Amino acid sequence: MVKLDDYTPIIGREQAQAIRELGRKLRGAVVQHINSAAVGGGVAEILKRLVPLMQDVGLRPRWDVLQGTEEFYTVTKTFHNAFHGQAVQVNERMFEIYREISRQNYQLVDGGADFVILHDQQPLGLAEIREGHPGKWLWYCHVDPVDVDERVWNFLRSFASRCDGAIYHLPEYVKDLGNRVYVMPPAIDPLSEKNRDVTEEERREVLARLGVPDDLPLVIQVSRYDRLKDPLGVIRSFRLIRERVPCRLVLAGGGAGDDPEGMAVLEEVRREAGDDPDIFVLELPPTADLEINVLQRSAAVVIQKSVREGFGLTVTEGLWKGRPVVASPVGGIRIQVLDGQTGLAAQGDQAVAGAVVRLLQDPELAGRLGRAGREHVRQNFILPVYLKRWLEMLLEERGK
Ligand code: UDP
Repeated sequence: MVKLDDYTPIIGREQAQAIRELGRKLRGAVVQHINSAAVGGGVAEILKRLVPLMQDVGLRPRWDVLQGTEEFYTVTKTFHNAFHGQAVQVNERMFEIYREISRQNYQLVDGGADFVILHDQQPLGLAEIREGHPGKWLWYCHVDPVDVDERVWNFLRSFASRCDGAIYHLPEYVKDLGNRVYVMPPAIDPLSEKNRDVTEEERREVLARLGVPDDLPLVIQVSRYDRLKDPLGVIRSFRLIRERVPCRLVLAGGGAGDDPEGMAVLEEVRREAGDDPDIFVLELPPTADLEINVLQRSAAVVIQKSVREGFGLTVTEGLWKGRPVVASPVGGIRIQVLDGQTGLAAQGDQAVAGAVVRLLQDPELAGRLGRAGREHVRQNFILPVYLKRWLEMLLEERGK
């Protein structure tokens, strides 16, 4: 099981001690996390590592998973899309299904927790029974809610506003609920398979297995095949880059197989790439953590040309590996890629191409940005730092 001590070489003794001290102040506190999936998705990924760490520093964390039905998940998927600003069809029946499944899960909350954390919108219906229950209840919104569909939000806000507070990834995501507000961006785990150090031998072996040659600089974007990640724009930028510096492009992503829209985007990407020998379009399985790790580590430049982004964990991952990053300044990318300091911010095919060329031609600049980017992530967006923020937040909340 993962322990705080495992991270001491990364965060240093002083920081580890500060975290332990905060843990001592919360010794024995029962923190109940509730989400809707034991595996898959970013929240489960984070909880899998955060829960043991909370335990290691003296808290008594619990993690419960909401029991839904297929019908319920169809409803919450619609709500999820509604958070992303998609036009969705909602009706009273969907709200009733949501309320019904919430009722069936009321027994998850037994009154024994000092803190109840409802992750994302799926378990939010439990807040119906907030009144009269002990402990502090917090809703953690892990998505960008700025463009949430109004009808869906009006329904969900009645639950969210019953909580004592809400947690968001960025200040600009804060909704007006009339309760306390906390801002806590997500984090990556530097010791996970996706982010751990790899040996040169491993790196070469994985690249060979993926069929990606390593004799020219690689420009890489790792992302789901989604229009909001602008993979076609990446190809257009790449063609401008290659006119000036010999290099290759790797687009790597997965999840297209069971996502009809992802499939269509992947098709478009393959068509755009054509038989260009310098463009590698990879479809990766969900288990390809080491492959992603190796690709990011092998990048001369990591691109993230997103049109929109909640936080942008692929950027965090690229920065952590000390790679120079060129990314559009949207969503959470803006607090990660500080232009000219921890990477280059660029928007549009030409600007992105220009920024990548600059980095390919200036190894000194690329190295400096990469090092600063890694340090920025080390200080702000890795798991033990995230744990520290959690502890500070829980202490603050307990004092209210
Ligand atoms: N990811 C992955 N396989 C893929 C594409 C992405 O495991 O084929 C991972 C990626 O490494 C990152 C996460 O999924 O950890 C994507 O998070 P991000 O915030 O970048 O974007 P989202 O997909 O949530 O919009």
